[in-house]
Amino acid sequence: MRMSNFQIYKAIIFNILENKCKQCGNKTKLHLHHKDYEHTNNKLDNVELLCKKCHYQLHSVERITKGLKRSCRYCRQEFKSLNRKQLTQNVQAHELSCKQKIIEETNGKIKLEEKEK
Ligand SMILES: [Zn+2]
Ligand SMILES: [Zn+2]
Ligand SMILES: [Zn+2]
Repeated sequence: MRMSNFQIYKAIIFNILENKCKQCGNKTKLHLHHKDYEHTNNKLDNVELLCKKCHYQLHSVERITKGLKRSCRYCRQEFKSLNRKQLTQNVQAHELSCKQKIIEETNGKIKLEEKEK
């Protein structure tokens, strides 16, 4: 079986990080944790190895202290929630109505301009 680039990358990272949890030294059920929570940012200084338990703990602690933040891509309004799934749903619902509003406003302006002619 051929390994994907990500699998190869992961094998290398695991090796560099000594195949053990940074917190407790556990060597099983290791996860790759992204410090900036951006799962596409696989730079070496953004990732660390944590076992399942420590990883889970870290995320629940950070959730409580920081909360999760997302903002509307149209109006930049910020949304916070302790639940990532809930947050995504909230933002998506808002973005949908935000987009609708923008479309309506733009249509309104176009109609006004046409009248002025
Ligand atoms: Zn993580
Ligand atoms: Zn651990
Ligand atoms: Zn918005």
